[in-house]
Amino acid sequence: MTAMADASAPAMLAVRDLKKHFPIRKGLLQRAGGTVFAVDGVSFSIAAGETLGLVGESGCGKSTVGRTVLRLIEPTAGHIEIDGRDITHLSKTELRPYRRQMQIIFQDPFSSLDPRMSAGDIVAEPMRVHGTARGGDVRKRVAELFDRVGLRKAQMDNYPHQFSGGQRQRIGIARALALQPKLIVGDEPVSALDVSIQAQVLNLMMDLQRDMGLAYLFISHNLAVVEHISHHIAVMYLGRIVEYTDKRTLFTKALHPYTESLLLAVPVPDPKVKRQMRVLQGDVPSPITPPSGCHFHTRCPYVFDRCRSETPLLREVKPGQLVACHLR
Ligand code: SF4
Repeated sequence: MTAMADASAPAMLAVRDLKKHFPIRKGLLQRAGGTVFAVDGVSFSIAAGETLGLVGESGCGKSTVGRTVLRLIEPTAGHIEIDGRDITHLSKTELRPYRRQMQIIFQDPFSSLDPRMSAGDIVAEPMRVHGTARGGDVRKRVAELFDRVGLRKAQMDNYPHQFSGGQRQRIGIARALALQPKLIVGDEPVSALDVSIQAQVLNLMMDLQRDMGLAYLFISHNLAVVEHISHHIAVMYLGRIVEYTDKRTLFTKALHPYTESLLLAVPVPDPKVKRQMRVLQGDVPSPITPPSGCHFHTRCPYVFDRCRSETPLLREVKPGQLVACHLR
């Protein structure tokens, strides 16, 4: 079963059975030494103007999904469609027009910006590379983008170190917008920022989505951040989606034991609200030797025999709610 957005809306991004396995090479002779099953059969779609939050612990494969759908790394198997066109096997040249349509915002706004370039040149670079603006038009367009993301035009000639963390992420957003994309992958785009600044950047992203109809794949380990910006949420565990539904249902009626555990581990800010906290036992198992059957069985409080031998399929257990668990 595919984790789909509203079936009536055309998908800006559709991913089917996506896999990314990394072979491990060992020793001087680079002998085959196993495989990292980073992404192991993931399907979802995102409509224009919609945000899919992709959430899970560190190492679950969510960032690999983000990079693979943009073809920054090549998929091992599966299909990726952008606006109805299958881009999975396009050559670099064929992919070029689609590269404009899909952009990425990285976690660390400092290391993702070249410190030797002015902020204006950083934002202008994609336009120069793709030839979408020339001469004086480039500077005019950069000024518009600075204005759009809440930076002053006078700051165009400043260098990254002269900006705060939140401002640097605004530069990253302006650069992502430079080619008028339809899809943006945000890979933990606010995780490196102070909480007060996080809300400002999330609100900016939501404003841009409303005005430009952008589709977002928003990757985060933080459920509170995902809740703020997402329409639908997919929960990933060890390379697979284990639950997919709309935001409201996920936060009120989650059905997968892993989602339940993630929700119970989120601190409640109101001291008057008492809630049973449950911290997940153990670390995420290695994606090189994932547990048999249900990958979550080594940490699940409800595990029973079948879980150890049989992989639960992601299936629709209630309208619009897909869960991969033998108990549902
Ligand atoms: Fe837990 Fe079994 Fe469901 Fe996996 S299939 S989440 S181990 S109850």
